[in-house]
Amino acid sequence: MRIDVLTLFPEMFEGVFSSSILGKAKEKRLVTMNTVNFRDYSNNKHNTVDDYPYGGGGGMVLKPEPIFAAVEDVTSGLEHKPRIILMCPQGETFTQKKAEELSREEHLIFICGHYEGYDERIREHLVTDELSIGDYVLTGGELPAMVVVDSVVRLLPGVLGNETSAVTDSFSTGLLEYPHYTRPPKFRDWEVPDVLVSGHHGNIEQWRRKQSLLRTWKKRPELLDRIELTPKEQKWLEEIKRSE
Ligand code: SAM
Repeated sequence: MRIDVLTLFPEMFEGVFSSSILGKAKEKRLVTMNTVNFRDYSNNKHNTVDDYPYGGGGGMVLKPEPIFAAVEDVTSGLEHKPRIILMCPQGETFTQKKAEELSREEHLIFICGHYEGYDERIREHLVTDELSIGDYVLTGGELPAMVVVDSVVRLLPGVLGNETSAVTDSFSTGLLEYPHYTRPPKFRDWEVPDVLVSGHHGNIEQWRRKQSLLRTWKKRPELLDRIELTPKEQKWLEEIKRSE
């Protein structure tokens, strides 16, 4: 996968793109991640990329020319059509499902906004997607773009080893993930559940699925309306509801 991030603050990505799972994915050549400072595409001698809003009001607006020029440069000569993603609090709320969808693409381009927002023609005539990471407003699109890049790249084949597989992660299965324990078996007065040290894989699997159901019902009950449970799981869920 190739990822290009259009930003006014490329230095913000240096640590994130070279650390942990993203850094390893880059080393293994499973992804290339580039930043492009769209100020370099400004068409005036002061290198400005923003201007006052028509109609008045506070805040500055990102001009269309530098962002169009940067995207056109990054995409020139390509045979494939990249997804061009505008980071924006008004966009579709980012979810694990969207991360899975984007992880199947060959090339993603992110546009990070700043100031009051973008000239509307960028939204109307340049981008393929608008993504928000939640109902709150950040100073710029850099942190949101990092969130999306991280969650997409960790899903690329070969990025996570078996030991950190994403398959059982919360939301991937439609449920929240079950609780984890590690050594020691007894810490202070708190013991690891017997079933986890029993060595019985069938029972462990069943305990985990029940715990996932319990957690999801307690913390995010609306997720249960969106997945199809087997008759056995529905029975477990009824038992959980009765016993709690
Ligand atoms: N005035 C804009 C509005 O009310 O929709 C908010 C602009 S915000 C200060 C500046 C930039 O930060 C946005 O253009 C966007 O790129 C980014 N941003 C802020 N919050 C975001 C969020 N929740 N998700 C994605 N991007 C966000």
